[in-house]
Amino acid sequence: MALLEVKNLQVRVEEREILHGLTLSVNAGEVHAIMGPNGSGKSTLSHVIAGKPGYEVTGGEILFKGEDLLEMAPDMRAAKGVFLAFQYPVEIPGVATMTFLRTALNAQRKARGEGEFSTPDFLKKVREVAASLGIPQEMLRRGVNVGFSGGEKKRNEVLQMALFQPSLCILDEMDSGLDIDALRVAADGVNKLRSPDRAMVVITHYQRLLDYIVPDVVHVMSKGRVVKSGGKELALELEATGYAQYADAAA
Ligand code: ADP
Ligand code: MG
Ligand code: MG
Repeated sequence: MALLEVKNLQVRVEEREILHGLTLSVNAGEVHAIMGPNGSGKSTLSHVIAGKPGYEVTGGEILFKGEDLLEMAPDMRAAKGVFLAFQYPVEIPGVATMTFLRTALNAQRKARGEGEFSTPDFLKKVREVAASLGIPQEMLRRGVNVGFSGGEKKRNEVLQMALFQPSLCILDEMDSGLDIDALRVAADGVNKLRSPDRAMVVITHYQRLLDYIVPDVVHVMSKGRVVKSGGKELALELEATGYAQYADAAA
């Protein structure tokens, strides 16, 4: 059984159909890249999987570990192991990053029927993971993402992933706005989280990110559908030929 099974998904936003029957299957242990031009529906797909409001699913289904994901509230999806790293992480002024992490982590543990972390255990864990990602303690005291650079925001997303230990990580254009050094640090953090019981879906516009996070499978999205899938060499092919050829395939 695949970890994530998206079947013939149709989605509308404000009366307009954005996904027109999208099918995608991701097994545990795999890293899939989803590439495609701007506006092809990549973020829409990630938002629908995470349960962001404002999207109307008019057809198809999403199974996660064999269960109907669309029936679950967003916090239950997170508790079951779905994690979405946003293209534009939100700032939460007035809530210290440390407090946010602890609240979110304990909420997830509670939803899974696990006990809360004790304060010393939590602090030890966060400090350990933060240090491995090169995140200074001082950053953890600041408001969530407030005044963070692009690179710091992405590292903060990777920190959350490392703490929450999700089964499915969706990374939406984590390369946007990052210089090459920041990209490398974030990608290293993601690579450390690769594991046989975890899958990653890496959404990107550019091949560059996939030099650092090497995918097992590459999908091309165009106009709300997956129009081609292949191995990692497909990303290189796309870099050379561009997306234009797939626009016709989608039409
Ligand atoms: P991508 O992430 O591939 O760039 P998106 O999923 O962001 O694509 O967008 C796909 C299409 O859906 C675009 O045409 C975009 O304008 C439209 N769209 C996305 N979100 C909204 C929204 N909240 N309201 C109206 N249109 C939207
Ligand atoms: Mg976009
Ligand atoms: Mg997008």
